[in-house]
Amino acid sequence: MLAYCALSRMLHRAVLAALLWAPVLLWPPAPGAQPLLNEATVVLDPGHGGTDPGAIGISGVKEKDLELDVAGRVRRRLQASNIRTRLTRSGDQTVSLRDRSTRARSWGAGLFVSIHANSAANAAARGAESYILPAHGFASTSGSASRWSTCDGNAFDAANMLLAFHTHKGMVLNTGADDRGIRRARFQVLREANCPAVLVECGFLSNRAEERRLRESAYREKLAEGITQGILTMIGQTTRY
Ligand SMILES: [Zn+2]
Repeated sequence: MLAYCALSRMLHRAVLAALLWAPVLLWPPAPGAQPLLNEATVVLDPGHGGTDPGAIGISGVKEKDLELDVAGRVRRRLQASNIRTRLTRSGDQTVSLRDRSTRARSWGAGLFVSIHANSAANAAARGAESYILPAHGFASTSGSASRWSTCDGNAFDAANMLLAFHTHKGMVLNTGADDRGIRRARFQVLREANCPAVLVECGFLSNRAEERRLRESAYREKLAEGITQGILTMIGQTTRY
């Protein structure tokens, strides 16, 4: 009898709790409260991988390893903000440039962010720079574009610039890296993007001081935070700047 009463009290409390919380748990969000991009998948593209190490730093560090790490940090931050995120490679795999675009398409990418590190013959060269597709009919920043025809990515000329502005600003402000600006080049992943796309160059592995910073976990965290802030600003979830 005693056991029956205790069970009855528990059931009673459970029903009461369900009735109290149901309106909160089931209440639908206000229509139109979230920006459209919030529904989209952000595709992060760590450059190179597998048989392609990318740039090699003065100490021997490989671009492919650094950028996989940065992309993973961005991914974790975006996921913490409930943003659907995919990586074109999640380990040390060889992935062709075509496959990177194909995967992004198949995942319904809403934004595409390719993450790289730089290298130059001039050991003094340093700083962060970002690339987007040249607008339709325009040459690349270097002036050496061999094809000025319209690419898939030109459907997003305005949004490409906006995405680059936010991610580049986040990267530079958060790290204090020299600002080498937003440049334009017809890189394959930018040409074939079917959503706004940017390629960020986090710094120069050929510069001794910058390579040392890129090898520091705390610095890569700053880079990731800056890139994430830019993406979130683009999506419309934050007005931090
Ligand atoms: Zn690269």
